Amino acid sequence: MLKDIIAKLREKGCKITPQRRVIIQSLLNFNKFPTALELCNDIRQTNPEIGLDTIYRNLNLLAGLGIVNQINLPGKDVKVFELTLQGHHHHLVCLNCGEANCLDYCPVNEKELQKAAGSEFQIVGHALELYGYCRKCRAAAQ
Ligand SMILES: [Zn+2]
Ligand SMILES: [Zn+2]
Ligand SMILES: [Zn+2]
Repeated sequence: MLKDIIAKLREKGCKITPQRRVIIQSLLNFNKFPTALELCNDIRQTNPEIGLDTIYRNLNLLAGLGIVNQINLPGKDVKVFELTLQGHHHHLVCLNCGEANCLDYCPVNEKELQKAAGSEFQIVGHALELYGYCRKCRAAAQ
């Protein structure tokens, strides 16, 4: 897994720094989508010299390269991160428990959006979260 991602980064001409390697490794360790702070706490157990700023900077860079997805959780002012091994996709976010699930489908037509945005702004990506209530929370509410 780590090897695949590193190969992907090399393909994109991105340098594999030790920090990037530990951030990716840490993302692989979680079985949920971690916040930057949770990543930081995990990474600092083995790499106490790495700070939250460094982690944010590298997450943004990896997001720009399409290696990492940033998911915005509503009402909590919090973002969680995931590795995008399966490519571009979107998420179903529960407004009650904040759980995010992958939706392997993109309903966005970037060509149409580019028309709407006009020629002065070049679209290079987009984010879209679908909000609702998950099965667990709907069952609990009944
Ligand atoms: Zn829920
Ligand atoms: Zn996902
Ligand atoms: Zn999309």
